[in-house]
Amino acid sequence: MGTSINDPNEIRDTDVVFDCPYCSKSLAIDVRGSGLVIACPDCGEQVQVPIPEGLEIADLDVATGDEGVRIIHLRELLLSAQLRVRELEEELEGLRQRRDMLEQLRAENTVRYDVLGRELDNIQRSLGRIGEVVASATETARRVSGIVEPV
Ligand SMILES: [Zn+2]
Repeated sequence: MGTSINDPNEIRDTDVVFDCPYCSKSLAIDVRGSGLVIACPDCGEQVQVPIPEGLEIADLDVATGDEGVRIIHLRELLLSAQLRVRELEEELEGLRQRRDMLEQLRAENTVRYDVLGRELDNIQRSLGRIGEVVASATETARRVSGIVEPV
């Protein structure tokens, strides 16, 4: 297994780059060294090589040569696809919330129209009653005046 620590100036595609938790030195190591405990070349402390996100330790067992590089690249593709899916899910969730908000708004407006409709009905009925009262008062006034001032 190639677990030798590489020169950070020659970082390869398949290297894991991380800082030593003890001395903060930037370390680069072949991805196949992920999960292994190594001695930091700078401070000598025992540090565990991190496992890159999206990579599984089981991949590393079979990750040899070109096949390993292919698996690592497929993992990267998978990870970016998963990130894209997550983004789309968030976008979808945002759209759902917007739809729900609009539906709620529409429902509220319907209620508002409903209330308005009922108020208009009430007003209409009131106007009708007022009309009847006015008509009856006019009739009464006409009859009264007919009595008082015969036509
Ligand atoms: Zn160190």
